Amino acid sequence: MNRVALITHQACLAHDAGPGHPECPDRLRVVLAALEHPDFTSLLREQAPLATEAQLCLAHPAAYVQAILALAPEAGELLALDSDTHVGPGSVAAARHAAGGAIAAVDAVMEGWAETAFVAVRPPGHHAEARQAMGFCLFNSVAIAAHHARARWGLTRIAVVDFDVHHGNGTQHMFADDPDLFYASSHQMPCYPGTGAAHETGVAGNIVNLPLDPGAGSVAFRAVWERQGLPALRAFAPELLIVSAGFDAHRADPLAQLRLETADFGWITDELMAACGGRMISVLEGGYDLAALAASAGLHVRRLIAGDLPGKRGLNA
Ligand SMILES: [Zn+2]
Repeated sequence: MNRVALITHQACLAHDAGPGHPECPDRLRVVLAALEHPDFTSLLREQAPLATEAQLCLAHPAAYVQAILALAPEAGELLALDSDTHVGPGSVAAARHAAGGAIAAVDAVMEGWAETAFVAVRPPGHHAEARQAMGFCLFNSVAIAAHHARARWGLTRIAVVDFDVHHGNGTQHMFADDPDLFYASSHQMPCYPGTGAAHETGVAGNIVNLPLDPGAGSVAFRAVWERQGLPALRAFAPELLIVSAGFDAHRADPLAQLRLETADFGWITDELMAACGGRMISVLEGGYDLAALAASAGLHVRRLIAGDLPGKRGLNA
């Protein structure tokens, strides 16, 4: 059994993108409720700190960070950064805690008090570009965490694996020119945001895109990871794997048309743990059917607790 940190913050519930918006506070509520089950009493529960301005600037230009931090809508007001990225009074703080949670997860595994971590936060981050909020995302939490792992802990080779149904355009663009950063994503294509074709391979084969046709299910999903994604991850041999854990490829999800079963999220979790080299953290991205999200995230965390991390004894002993 692994010591697993659960990192979250109440402030992430105070981000309200407006009535009927799929990226709603209940998403996080149902995930946290699922993790109240007695099976999860071993989780090491920690508060996600507020990311500092300097930490946000690890992945975004200062001018962009300052512009987002200066957004101060009044109660009841929503600022639309694009057609579906809305900022209310609690949104900027929520996004700062989301990034801070991903940073805290890196610190947890590097300090060694946890073997792995799940960061239960919102808004998601993988669509956020260096200079542009989009797709519900303000700050790219996983990219910030990757750069933090370098700046604070001296790691060089860091991988992000993204099984959200949408391509993580922001993460890919931030990583593509750096051969010591790796990004692999399975996603529906065509689908929002439109990037993520198989021929987008980065500067050194460090970008691996695994597009799936609408309607694809477990067999196609497992096949692309077994044939391409996991071997590429193993070949890259990361010092740290950060998972962009979106659960919207579930067959019940209303935002896309992949047909994964809940069990597929357990399978990919086990496979990533086996391929990560020993250090892995996971950060919540999408997932918009509340019941499927709760079940899938719950299974993901169950596998984080029960799964095998290679070299575990050697790493933190
Ligand atoms: Zn998504």
